[in-house]
Amino acid sequence: MPVYVNLRLVAEETVHLEGELPVAEFGADYQDEIIHFDQPLKYSLDVDRQPDGLLVAGSLSTSVGCECARCLQPFRFPIELEHFAALAELKGEEAITIEGEFGDLTPLLREDIYLGLPANPLCRPDCRGLPEKASARDLRLEESPPDGSSPWTALDQLKL
Ligand SMILES: [Zn+2]
Repeated sequence: MPVYVNLRLVAEETVHLEGELPVAEFGADYQDEIIHFDQPLKYSLDVDRQPDGLLVAGSLSTSVGCECARCLQPFRFPIELEHFAALAELKGEEAITIEGEFGDLTPLLREDIYLGLPANPLCRPDCRGLPEKASARDLRLEESPPDGSSPWTALDQLKL
């Protein structure tokens, strides 16, 4: 269920909304190879009537599953918005969807969560990438053919 605010109620007083938004409501259509939404979004919000809409303010938190951009290891990335604030317009092009006496605040929350996502997720700031691959490459370089089939062998023999 989306995050709905009762417009009749908020016209009279501050409305407090608290709960968990299922992944299906905010992250299901987010397509990314290295970031996966798999946890609900926890919200605690106060909604106040303003002259030009509704002020929605409070905290949002969730965490996403990421793959490190350097070493490809999976890790959790927490998203904590302690001071979320947005204006929900009730008229015009940017207006929120209104069904009956309820306004849908979900898109506002979704937008800020997407903005909080890491552009280049790293398992830790100093991740050095894939050490196994690098050492395998070094090993191959050090291995010289033991049977003397190197192109230099002929040259060495000339010098003799
Ligand atoms: Zn890493």
